[in-house]
Amino acid sequence: MTGTKPTLATAALTGCFGCHMSLLDIDERILELVDLVDFDKSPFDDKKSFDGPVDVGFIEGGCSNEANVRELREFRQHCRILISVGACAINGGVPAMRNTIGLRECLEAVYLHGPSLEGGGMIPNDEDLPLLLDRVYPSHEIVKIDYFLPGCPPSADAIWATLTALLTGQPPALPYALLKYE
Ligand code: SF4
Repeated sequence: MTGTKPTLATAALTGCFGCHMSLLDIDERILELVDLVDFDKSPFDDKKSFDGPVDVGFIEGGCSNEANVRELREFRQHCRILISVGACAINGGVPAMRNTIGLRECLEAVYLHGPSLEGGGMIPNDEDLPLLLDRVYPSHEIVKIDYFLPGCPPSADAIWATLTALLTGQPPALPYALLKYE
């Protein structure tokens, strides 16, 4: 623990923000959570960089581009415990369906042959855009992951039980009823 309170950071990589929404589904327990932790880098507080070492990192989404890989490695460097939250972080999830299609074929289907395109299109090539990877990678293929919390998304109760255990120095032990993969 880095200060008087444990710290929590969260990241949304190639996901849909549904796992972050499920965390918010803890409803009024959010007041207990803000009493329990200080948030560091997270979309919740719109903090773009780390203040220092963090106790628990919550990773939503797999890695589909180079920016995802940079952020995931940054989380691994800063977080003592890293959790893969949700199907996308654990196995690539729905976005990994693109792994069955070649990257160029995928880009051409969207940007050159999309049915709503008028007068032809072009594959975006602005240098500010992160380059796509050859496929979508689960987070544990990029960095070491300490815990996996399945579900699409995991329920608010499963997220609550996991976070409160880890943030208070306990190993998470979820009842069977809180485990799901859809
Ligand atoms: S696991 Fe499901 S809810 Fe979570 S980011 Fe992926 S698609 Fe969204």
